[in-house]
Amino acid sequence: MSKFIPLSVPNLCGNEAAYCQKAIASEWVSTGGAYITEFEEKIAAYVGTPGAVACQSGTAGLHLALLSCGVGQNDEVLVPTLTFIAAVNPVKYVGAEPVFMDCDDTLCMDMQKVERFCETECAMTPEGLLDKATGRYVRAMLVVHVFGNLADLDKAAALAEKYDLALIEDATEALGSRYLSGRFAGRFAGTVGKVGVYSFNGNKIITTGGGGMLVSGDEAILREAKYLSTQAKDDTLYFVHNHIGYNYRMTNLQAALGLAQLEKLEDFIRVKAENYRAYFENGIELLPFRDDIRTNHWFYSFMTDRRDELIRALSERSIQSRPVWHLIADLPPYQNCRAYEIARAKYYWQHIVNLPCSTNLTKEDVAVVAKAVHDILK
Ligand SMILES: *Cc1c(COP(=O)(O)O)cnc(C)c1O
Repeated sequence: MSKFIPLSVPNLCGNEAAYCQKAIASEWVSTGGAYITEFEEKIAAYVGTPGAVACQSGTAGLHLALLSCGVGQNDEVLVPTLTFIAAVNPVKYVGAEPVFMDCDDTLCMDMQKVERFCETECAMTPEGLLDKATGRYVRAMLVVHVFGNLADLDKAAALAEKYDLALIEDATEALGSRYLSGRFAGRFAGTVGKVGVYSFNGNKIITTGGGGMLVSGDEAILREAKYLSTQAKDDTLYFVHNHIGYNYRMTNLQAALGLAQLEKLEDFIRVKAENYRAYFENGIELLPFRDDIRTNHWFYSFMTDRRDELIRALSERSIQSRPVWHLIADLPPYQNCRAYEIARAKYYWQHIVNLPCSTNLTKEDVAVVAKAVHDILK
């Protein structure tokens, strides 16, 4: 039996156990403790924002992002159809409606189509951007940086300004990716929009077991998000709550893991880039990332018209791979929602197979996977 090669698993090779042991020894294991604020400060310093709010998951962070941008009942939010469902569900949590957009060849939201949608399907009114077909107002654009690639935020930010939309970045897959040129040169994924969100789920580039982080350049948003994440507590002694809050705060134990992982982030990004190149050296052409960015190379995408056959045959050889997410606009909870000219997303959905990309993948593992792909498809 050959060695199992997983798709994307945690790499806990640093100070994880040491910091968790300290948290345990201090008995600060829950939603208070010094590691939480230290983790927030270090993420904020790394990406260059005035602050950060640690939460239980990326999903919780996206929920808080929409709430703190004031998105609510009956509003519309532009979202991608090619993404993980956790990017879209929070739109429903706040009572708003998603409008699904296509992707471009970066796999991120097609800004050309977003522009066309705003121009032809909507009308700018004193109350905001009116969707003429539904009578609702479009209030936000939720952009996902798919697989560590970066969306075209030059264009997105211009559209957000023109149409008065809150630009929310789902940077859950893109911690460490940044723009090298253009209007946002030097800026990290998550720091361009009004709010950005990272995830530390087990398969992300760094993990806290489960967890997330919201960042913003706007102190008022940071305050609101933290307030809502800690049960909207207005008086800690007398338990006065003037709003409905959430139990979304990260725990000190999770933050202990996160601090240890953050120390390794740049190493992980380097290894991801090396392994990405190793696939090419072994004759496997992966989908490119934009060449005008520093990407974190989170996930590797291989294109084939024999997707299901390849996934099955790799699995028989103990190699884990997977198709890209089912298009959200076609899933039961969302199939009656508005979707605008979805085309390229269908093509990528039918063809992408994600190949093993863990940071503890060796060059030998890459060679084994590459050979298996060649053998299966020859
Ligand atoms: C992982 C992920 C999320 C959700 O993060 P969790 O921490 O798992 O809640 C949201 N959006 C995208 C695109 C993701 O990949």
